Amino acid sequence: MFDSLSDRLNGILDGLKRRGALKEADVSAAMREVRVALLEADVALPVVKSFIAKVKEKAVGQTVLKSVTPGQQVIKIVHDELVAMLGTESAPVNTAGLPPVAIMMVGLQGSGKTTSTAKIAKRLTEKDSKKVLMASLDTRRPAAQEQLKVLGEQIGVKTLPIIKGQLPADIARRAMEAGRLQGFDVVMLDTAGRLHVDAALMAEVQAVRDGVQPLETLLVADSLTGQDAVNVAQEFDGQVGITGVVLTRMDGDGRGGAALSMRAVTGKPIKLIGTGEKADALEDFHPERVASRILGMGDVVSLVEKAAETIEKEDAEKMAAKMAKGTFDLDDLRTQLRQMKKLGGMKSVLGLLPGMGQMKKALSGATLDDGMFKRQEAIIDSMTPKERAKPQLLNASRKKRIAAGSGTTVPEVNKLLKMHMQMAKMMKKMSKMGKSGRMPMVPG
Ligand code: GDP
Repeated sequence: MFDSLSDRLNGILDGLKRRGALKEADVSAAMREVRVALLEADVALPVVKSFIAKVKEKAVGQTVLKSVTPGQQVIKIVHDELVAMLGTESAPVNTAGLPPVAIMMVGLQGSGKTTSTAKIAKRLTEKDSKKVLMASLDTRRPAAQEQLKVLGEQIGVKTLPIIKGQLPADIARRAMEAGRLQGFDVVMLDTAGRLHVDAALMAEVQAVRDGVQPLETLLVADSLTGQDAVNVAQEFDGQVGITGVVLTRMDGDGRGGAALSMRAVTGKPIKLIGTGEKADALEDFHPERVASRILGMGDVVSLVEKAAETIEKEDAEKMAAKMAKGTFDLDDLRTQLRQMKKLGGMKSVLGLLPGMGQMKKALSGATLDDGMFKRQEAIIDSMTPKERAKPQLLNASRKKRIAAGSGTTVPEVNKLLKMHMQMAKMMKKMSKMGKSGRMPMVPG
């Protein structure tokens, strides 16, 4: 499915990987090529634009790691953004509800709806030991209900007996009733398709939805139709509301655009992919694995991850040594601030750090936003190395110079120094407690 995109990206990024030093222009040139490659793979334009913007932003702002090349770091960023674009985590089919739970399958004719219904039913039966009932609500295509019945017999899953002339919404209600009376866990409803999205189809599906309140409404879409598949998903989501997507024919040689833009455009996860005509050709969609398959650079990605971990470990070890000695200077504070920034901003980290109660007091009145972070870093940056190591050197005139140099005020400089003092004191206390063998307390 992703072969040609994968080849293209590999070619582009391989060039970066080999380079020792990278200029912004190198990254920009590579990203222009990545952009073309994604567009040619039929990924939706807004998705491509936002992808490129995010990669560039991260590539420019990143700290350089030891032992990997900047190019390798860029590859890691591309990989991570690819995973984010695909939805980060795999999303299993939800069956957790009061049984019988209804799973409604919707989509256009020929998308693979009936096949996917049977595949999911088989998997729920065999893997999850669920008791599954399937019902075809397709009263338009003459042989549709029989088709599901035959599939059911092949895979050993019960189907609702066919009553000719019943309306889809009535069949759905009958299926749920049978599910309740006969102790089924899951009732799978295979709705009728059309060649195109039309009002009659939507009205029919809405009626079924309102009658049975499905836990899952899965849109089945043919990945070979590219952006059309994404448009259909958007259409169904707007009019019926879908909870996820089953992307079929991923075994074909489509360009992959549907798989790549589906999540970003619709906001709904690809839950499963169909990889063949057989009843067990169904797989979970793992964003991480798909991204790795597309990039084919798993080695580089894990290399960079390891390098980042090492740096963090080294930092943490250094900090621990400082704590043991009871020396915590402004350089250390800066490292901490950076770490906090990396961890996702002040607000999310505040609660996690020991001694935060005291720190909050020291900061009282200040707004805890990330802008403040940047100002604090600027204040420390404006100090000389000597001042950073020995904050007691900071007299009034030095403070004035630092405030001017960092575009802040003397009270802000004082506030930072006070915060540093509190933290240093706390670290000393913690290291003493550590030595005495007691657990350090976390003041709240
Ligand atoms: P429906 O009209 O949406 O119910 O579509 P069907 O389930 O009848 O499928 C239409 C055709 O697509 C059948 O020949 C299926 O065997 C085939 N099909 C469905 N899913 C896949 C898939 O993931 N891969 C391949 N190669 N064929 C599939």
